[in-house]
Amino acid sequence: MADIQLQVTAAKGHLFIISGPSGTGKSTIVSAILKKRPQLGYSISFTTRPPRGDEQDGVDYHFISQDTFRKKIDADELAEWAEVHGHLYGTSARYIEETLAGGQDVLLDIDVEGTKRLSARYPEAISVFIAPPTMKELEKRLNRRGTDSAVVVARRLKSAEAEMAQAHCYDHVIVNDDLGKALVELETIIEKVCLNG
Ligand code: ADP
Ligand code: 5GP
Repeated sequence: MADIQLQVTAAKGHLFIISGPSGTGKSTIVSAILKKRPQLGYSISFTTRPPRGDEQDGVDYHFISQDTFRKKIDADELAEWAEVHGHLYGTSARYIEETLAGGQDVLLDIDVEGTKRLSARYPEAISVFIAPPTMKELEKRLNRRGTDSAVVVARRLKSAEAEMAQAHCYDHVIVNDDLGKALVELETIIEKVCLNG
């Protein structure tokens, strides 16, 4: 009897892009979802921005110099990168490739420009825009967070208007008014995608 060879191809993981204006609650939502779903991978970005509040290197970001960042661009190590609010931010191509190839789902928190570039590279990525309930509430959250100077808050609020105008480009928009509800909405999106394989 002829040998029957079964070729099993491991399923690739899914890529979930989370975006939205600074202060809208992305980090809060992402850390809550990672606690509930520890099987999700989180892409820790590289940035030239200095650490804020109690942020830790290698946990919140890989904090690197401009020079090191430029070398990563030249070596093609970044799946996408962008200048946001005056600093450089980028995604490790190796982390994304290896994690997805290993079958693990990946969550990223990146800006609108980065989303466009990453969606072009990974057309199957699912993009989710987190919007604040109002611009006034966004301003309150940025001030309440207490990690940025008035100048930085003003710059981020100005960018927020342009970012909000791009919300329609995303697969899903979640208004982060009630945090619990926003979390349930994101979990539902993730579960649906994962159920469909
Ligand atoms: P981002 O990562 O989008 O810049 P953060 O997660 O740092 O935003 O949230 C900004 C501030 O808003 C934080 O102080 C956070 O505790 C607060 N926050 C987040 N979600 C909500 C919400 N649904 N209601 C009220 N405050 C919120
Ligand atoms: P923050 O300085 O508040 O942590 O982030 C500022 C902005 O940079 C946010 O919109 C965040 O989503 C974005 N950002 C963080 N990491 C990356 C990244 O790797 N690439 C891109 N394009 N944007 C990023």
